[in-house]
Amino acid sequence: MPITTEDTLRWLKQLANVLHENRDYLTQLDSPIGDADHGTNMDRGFKAVADKLPGMANMDIGSILKTVGTTLVSTVGGASGPLYGTAFLRAGMATSGKHELYESDMVSMLEAALEGIKVRGKAHLGEKTIVDALTPALAAAKEAEAQNLGLSQLLRRASNAAEGGMKSTIPMLATKGRASYLGERSIGHQDPGATSSWLILKTLADTCG
Ligand code: ADP
Ligand code: MG
Repeated sequence: MPITTEDTLRWLKQLANVLHENRDYLTQLDSPIGDADHGTNMDRGFKAVADKLPGMANMDIGSILKTVGTTLVSTVGGASGPLYGTAFLRAGMATSGKHELYESDMVSMLEAALEGIKVRGKAHLGEKTIVDALTPALAAAKEAEAQNLGLSQLLRRASNAAEGGMKSTIPMLATKGRASYLGERSIGHQDPGATSSWLILKTLADTCG
């Protein structure tokens, strides 16, 4: 069964709850290697998204995702606002006009989102950022698609791969964003952005898988 407009709206609504519940956790992760605002940034952005959901009921999925992107750009300060904003905008462009998403759409959407983040943030794999969670997630989604595993398994595998990518940021030395100011002292801490990326994909698997 494909992912529908209703599924997409349920995901975003639940995501606003999950990011609210994890606000303190994300902020704690951003304390030793940042400025302790990642949780409040994500919570603020997705609260604004949740407020707009009732008006999105008749939109196609691409338009919904683009609206999420513009909302995040305009409400989230810091590095993560423009980065996630670009990711959702690109995901929306990849799903323009669609009312149902299949496995290949999910791969295109993830690929477009990751590409947008990489272009905007100029980060590569291994620099302790969102890219370290999304890159293995995309690879897992592509593999699941190639194996004809179905959407539910594709989403769960992408989420699990993002979790692995998130954990892989702990021993990394940050070379992008605020954490890079710490140099060697950034080692030994889990990246907050990689963690929010995992929460986004986990909630997608939980609500649409
Ligand atoms: P800020 O760093 O401006 O306070 P946030 O705390 O909301 O913004 O977000 C920090 C997260 O943003 C980091 O944990 C990292 O994952 C991500 N990030 C920062 N710079 C980049 C970049 N250039 N490319 C990709 N992700 C980045
Ligand atoms: Mg911060």
